[in-house]
Amino acid sequence: METIKTKSCDEELDPSLFRPDFPILRKVLRDGIPLVYLDNAATTQRPRQVIAAIVDIYEHHYSNVHRGIHTLADETTELYEGARDRVREFLNAAEREEIVFTAGATAGINLVARAWGDANLRPGDEILLTEMEHHSNMVPWYQLAERTGAVVRHLPLTDDGRLDLSALPHMLTEKTKILAVTAVSNVLGTINPVQDLIPAAHAVGAKVLVDGAQSVPHHRTDVQRLDADFLVFSGHKMLGPTGVGVLYGKREILEAMPPFLGGGSMIHEVTLDGFVPGDLPARFEAGTPPIVGAIGLGAAIDYLTSVGLSRIESHERRLTQKLYVALAEIEGVRILGTEPSLRGGIVSFVLNDLHAQDLAHLLDRYGVAVRAGHHCAMPLHRRYGVPTSARASFYLYNTSEDIDHLIDAILRARRLAHRK
Ligand code: PMP
Repeated sequence: METIKTKSCDEELDPSLFRPDFPILRKVLRDGIPLVYLDNAATTQRPRQVIAAIVDIYEHHYSNVHRGIHTLADETTELYEGARDRVREFLNAAEREEIVFTAGATAGINLVARAWGDANLRPGDEILLTEMEHHSNMVPWYQLAERTGAVVRHLPLTDDGRLDLSALPHMLTEKTKILAVTAVSNVLGTINPVQDLIPAAHAVGAKVLVDGAQSVPHHRTDVQRLDADFLVFSGHKMLGPTGVGVLYGKREILEAMPPFLGGGSMIHEVTLDGFVPGDLPARFEAGTPPIVGAIGLGAAIDYLTSVGLSRIESHERRLTQKLYVALAEIEGVRILGTEPSLRGGIVSFVLNDLHAQDLAHLLDRYGVAVRAGHHCAMPLHRRYGVPTSARASFYLYNTSEDIDHLIDAILRARRLAHRK
């Protein structure tokens, strides 16, 4: 593994030190326009250290895991299980058996809704979500409710994009069996007080699933301190490969859950009469797991750790503050959500005279990549009375100049749209 340029923990992050690690950021679009990548909440880019780890495994170590008795199988298994140790440490989970590799955050939530949900929910039980959830943290619970007769409720939002905690006492009751909540909204960027919600849910006997897709890549997560029952996230939003994610679950809860997918690797024994499920974490990793994905994720964690999550978080906060102020100065811009100090590096907005998708198309002409649409959060957009929004989202390699480019591009896009 190549070394990464680290600085002291207190020192402000200088993105120019890291940008050379990301080959794609050198991409020049049509007419020599450089790429300004501000779509990190959808997926991030990969540094060459992660790409090198992936190439290295395919060139030197690749085999299936946990199956062979040959050298390559041993090497790959060691790397794959080593990645699990890296994830355990990164989350400060108590045990490596609590780390299950999945295909991503969506797969992790579906796993819990199926395996834990089907076994534990009865008609009339309640599932508490919030109105700001990504569809990935809504649809699997709706499906669970359809299967079991449980009822889904949603914690409402305030006008400025926070969870309306005044509704909590009557929504979180003994009927609530699980609270599934995002730690950071993928649209509003709101950082939710999961550290307060978790004990409140536990006090009424409910389990808690934290959707960490937008938090784990940007903020230090300590699952023991949080006391979350489940936490999910995706590798591709934190410099890692696509096709891999993690479900963290407390050992005693995972142990009591029946397996979800059946197949190879997840069994102790199969006979003509049935099967005996295997131990954790294999019990939830049926079939060939995302071997290279997990190893790549391990390399991404090494990279993030050496840069320092707290520095990344402060850097994103500075960028968010700058964008927020600059956007607020543009006439006819509405920023969705709360003030910058309460949010991560995500800013969604609408213009009063240009549709978000049209804006994003025009921004692309100037090299600026943002997301436009409902961002898989239709109920949230409905709550704020807009069908769609444009979203800029940051990571460690974004610079203050990226924001200047974005603002300049918005002003030019607007002029161009009105000239037509
Ligand atoms: N939850 C949140 C908050 C997200 O932002 C996303 C991805 N946009 C997901 C869940 C789903 O992640 P994935 O598509 O990687 O499974």
